[in-house]
Amino acid sequence: MGKWEENVRRCVPYVAGEQPDRKNMIKLNTNECPYPPAPGVERARREMDTDSFRLYPNPDVKPLVEALAEYYHVKPSQVFVGVGSDDVISMAFMTFFNGTKPILFPDVTYSFYDVWADVYRIPYRTVPLDENWRIRPEDYRQENGGIIFPNPNAPTGVYEPLDKVEEIIRSNPDVVVMVDEAYIDFGGESALPLLEKYENLLVVQTFSKSRAMAGMRIGYCIGNEKLIGYLNDVRFSVNSYTMNRPAQILGVEAVKDDAYFKATTAKIIATRERVKGELKKLGFTFPDSKANFIFASHAAKPAKEIFQALRNADIFVRYWDKPRINNSLRITVGTDEEMDKLIEFLKNYLAE
Ligand SMILES: *Cc1c(COP(=O)(O)O)cnc(C)c1O
Repeated sequence: MGKWEENVRRCVPYVAGEQPDRKNMIKLNTNECPYPPAPGVERARREMDTDSFRLYPNPDVKPLVEALAEYYHVKPSQVFVGVGSDDVISMAFMTFFNGTKPILFPDVTYSFYDVWADVYRIPYRTVPLDENWRIRPEDYRQENGGIIFPNPNAPTGVYEPLDKVEEIIRSNPDVVVMVDEAYIDFGGESALPLLEKYENLLVVQTFSKSRAMAGMRIGYCIGNEKLIGYLNDVRFSVNSYTMNRPAQILGVEAVKDDAYFKATTAKIIATRERVKGELKKLGFTFPDSKANFIFASHAAKPAKEIFQALRNADIFVRYWDKPRINNSLRITVGTDEEMDKLIEFLKNYLAE
């Protein structure tokens, strides 16, 4: 080992779902939207002035921050935008989880949280979900340096009603509580209204799932002005120009078209509910999902085998060989056509 290696920040990176490049594949492994972004996004892309690319983008991401503030009825000073919510959450870990007590998050959850905690040397403790994959708010009444959980949770899809979310926030006034709402637009109720009551709440959302723009990398969080101010201080101490010009322009277009947004999420919800019935008929069980995916296991066939069989047929879903979840598949809700092909395949495969 070279001496220089002693000074390396060692970390175990997050493993993202694969992005295979196969013709006619059915991609249900990373919770992307199966429909294109709002039509205004394509229009704005065509009209984009590439000469402006010479110039740095607006460091305050002003038009996008303002569009989001208007949409969610908050002040622009309460909105922070980043390069996907991964960037937003990572910045928020650095900013708010700077104490010595362990931060808390569920044992089964978004597998990036422990990676960020490790890379920033933040102590953490995982809190087991109950046997039905539910969060028990009383478990979050232990000493901690901060809390984060997704609602709906990933990869389970389980949504916790707002009174439970509020209970966790209310009993933790001395730390920042982050609610990661990557999937909130698929049927849950956002914690945003609670911002009026709690200055320690940060609500994180993303354009990647419900707004069909994973490739543009746009995420944001909304919170008390003071929280957002601290977050901006850290961001401007790391990189002033995180959001590139196209993302800033196209993001605004996505926010502007609320009718398209609502129609798209409604379609995905309808497909999800139909697929729940089909999967049940095939002998799958799953917690009720309020996200754009279903976390399913089969009584007779191990998830790992189904995963492989699907993969061989160019149908990609997500599987983790991890405690508690190694017999479940996370299946993104695609178009009706894609889901019909999935169901058809499973029907034949399970009958073999
Ligand atoms: C997808 C996802 C994110 C990150 O999405 P971005 O593409 O970085 O905005 C964050 N949290 C959860 C729970 C997710 O599933």
